[in-house]
Amino acid sequence: MGKGQGTIGRFGVRYGRTPKTKLKKIEAKQKATYVCPSCSYKKVKRLFIGVWQCSKCNHKFAGKAYEV
Ligand SMILES: [Zn+2]
Repeated sequence: MGKGQGTIGRFGVRYGRTPKTKLKKIEAKQKATYVCPSCSYKKVKRLFIGVWQCSKCNHKFAGKAYEV
């Protein structure tokens, strides 16, 4: 008479999933260039806060603090 031995396999090792937290890239809107409303060239950069200037036609205009 034989005894059936059930192999009890306990796998305590868990493969922990390390969630990769993707760092959201903060788009630097301040460094972005925008389309000039005067010459329609994408040459507008922020001169000061709220003041934008086009390096193509030197058109200066007021806009938002960090966006045109
Ligand atoms: Zn311009």
